[in-house]
Amino acid sequence: MDKKNIRDCDIVQDLLPLYYDDACSPTSREFVEQHILSCEKCKKTYEELNNHSIENIIENESTGVLERHAKKERTAAYKAGLIIAGLLLLPIIITFICSMANGGGLGVFMVVLASMLFIGAMTVVPLMSMKNRFAKTIVCSVIALLFIIFFVDQLNGGGGFTLIAVPTIFGISTVFFPFVVRALRLPLALTDKKALITMCWDTVWLYLTICVVCIHDNSMEELRTGIIVATIFMLLAWLIFFITRYMSANPYIKAGIITILCTIWTAFANDVSILLIDHKKQLTLLSVDFSNWSDAACVNANVYTLALVLGGIIGVLLIIVGLIRSRRRN
Ligand SMILES: [Zn+2]
Repeated sequence: MDKKNIRDCDIVQDLLPLYYDDACSPTSREFVEQHILSCEKCKKTYEELNNHSIENIIENESTGVLERHAKKERTAAYKAGLIIAGLLLLPIIITFICSMANGGGLGVFMVVLASMLFIGAMTVVPLMSMKNRFAKTIVCSVIALLFIIFFVDQLNGGGGFTLIAVPTIFGISTVFFPFVVRALRLPLALTDKKALITMCWDTVWLYLTICVVCIHDNSMEELRTGIIVATIFMLLAWLIFFITRYMSANPYIKAGIITILCTIWTAFANDVSILLIDHKKQLTLLSVDFSNWSDAACVNANVYTLALVLGGIIGVLLIIVGLIRSRRRN
């Protein structure tokens, strides 16, 4: 390397920080750019300067700080979880010792054990789980709740577990199953069918609840009635589900169709139920009389008619708005 090149390198090395900050004169800038093209050493210095820019350093440091903070929090939550689990063990051990000393069996002990499991599921599980905290908490709590129901039922002579457990699962499912199914890792073919899975799950538990309650009462007549009424309303629920989820239409059109469907169901569900249950043909709407608001049949007919007319108007308006909007978009 000759003297001139060494001198150029020295100048460029001095200029590079200014060049990087865009703070040198146009002449110096051109000089640096020309030199970098032919000098590997100075080009390397410039690249290093680029990699160690203030922004990069701040970014690296801040992710480091965030990671350390998250780790610290995880450890703290983990410790809190362990302490609570330890505290929950105390009543379990005490009841166990008392039960053994009394020789009265382990019935009460099992109920306390299940109750502590339930408290643990609500506190320790969310503290100690890293992923899908809410879903795991729900699943563990429901399992613990089923244990409580089982052991309380055993304590009372047994035989009532399914009668309480099935409606409990149904009730909890209607609110919380979507959160659980969202956290589930399903095969590829099912990942976009989580809403459908939720609908199927809830439908199954609704029918199971009706069956369990009616079979417990030993009433086949009630079972038939329950299944007919449930089916009429589940049909509406499934229709609404398919329209919202799978129909490819403007949201206004969907809302309009659903409004009309709901008013039709309001007006005719009772008549259809009576036809299917008692084989009696009746049409409540025929008793419509807006001058009579004292007779129960007339009041029903008046309300159904108003609902039908209002729902029909709102539904048709929504569909018209939807049609106009989708035509405008096209
Ligand atoms: Zn150089």
